[in-house]
Formats: sequence, structure tokens, C-alpha cells
Amino acid sequence: MSTALDDLAVEASTCTRCPLAGGRTQVVFGMGDPHADLLFVGEGPGAEEDRQGLPFVGRSGQLLDRLMLEELGITRDRVYIANVVKCRPPDNRDPQPIEIESCRPYLERQIELIAPKVVVTLGKFAGQLLLDSRVGITKLRGREYPFGEAVLIPTLHPAYALRGGGEPLAQMRADFVRAKLALAAT
Ligand code: URA
Repeated sequence: MSTALDDLAVEASTCTRCPLAGGRTQVVFGMGDPHADLLFVGEGPGAEEDRQGLPFVGRSGQLLDRLMLEELGITRDRVYIANVVKCRPPDNRDPQPIEIESCRPYLERQIELIAPKVVVTLGKFAGQLLLDSRVGITKLRGREYPFGEAVLIPTLHPAYALRGGGEPLAQMRADFVRAKLALAAT
């Protein structure tokens, strides 16, 4: 029997609510444990994600997997991974406000259905959207925020850490440890 999350994925798979629909190979709805305690929210699919239909399967994803394993001791099948926008922005450009708004109901419903205890946002777009904030990500990160029944921990985007090296990577590690402690406290 299909679940409400499956039904939502089917609905999203033919979505034409915003112009990104025209350029995608496929919708990247999300993947992982539909009852996960931990939800990661990224920005949007890149080229590899668009090809495979799965989130974070390129270089950023490899770093995400590594940090999950090294700091949380888990693999991606134990969490859920979603994005702010489900279709690839062309040329890896930032998602536009209209695209983020059009896609927002999907993410909100995913969060409702998965009901995670800890949400880790990866990068500025996810952090600012879910915290309804315009504060830059380097200021937002470094602490946890109440998020309904859950807590939200904003961190940097792995692509930023890949470019920036030691300092951002160390900050991401610290944020992942924060997530581990928050999970243990639930
Ligand atoms: N970057 C993201 O923000 N999300 C993905 O799924 C892949 C790369």
C-alpha cells in the first residue's frame, strides 16, 4: 500500500508549478527513511542528481555521506534527505524566490509526514527558508533553533566546504556533532 509520502512523490513527479519543470530530466523528490528522526534539507539538485533522480549523489553528497558517518556514525538510509527545490536550476544557479515559493508546499508536507526530531539545513537557502530569516548562513549557524516539535540546526552547504577547505569543514563537523547531541536528547 502506498503511503502519503509516496503519493506526494507521485504528485511532485509531474509538477509544473514553476519554470524549473521545463529544464529538468526528472524531479528529485528526496530519499531515505520516511520515519527518520533526522532530516537533511539541501538547496536543489545538481546535474548528477537530475540524472539519477536522487538527492546529493555528486561530490557534495560524498562529503555529506562522509560527515554523517564520521560525526554521527550513520549512513544515509537511516536519515531522510530532501531539498528546497526539487528540480535542477540550470547551470547550477541559485534557486529564484518564485521557484522556492512554488516548491515550498512539497517540503512543508514532507516535514509534516516524516516528522523528524532534528532538521539539519545545508546552506543558506534551506536555513533561511525554514527559519524565515534573512540572516546570512555564517551568522545563523553555530546554534540550534526550536522548530515546531523538532529542533533545527543550520549548517553550511557541503559545496561551500569543498571550496573553502579547513575552516568551513570544521564548522560543519561541529554542527553535525550538535545534531548528534540533539538526537540523543530526544
Ligand atoms: N546540492 C544540493 O543542495 N542538493 C542536492 O541534492 C545536491 C547538491
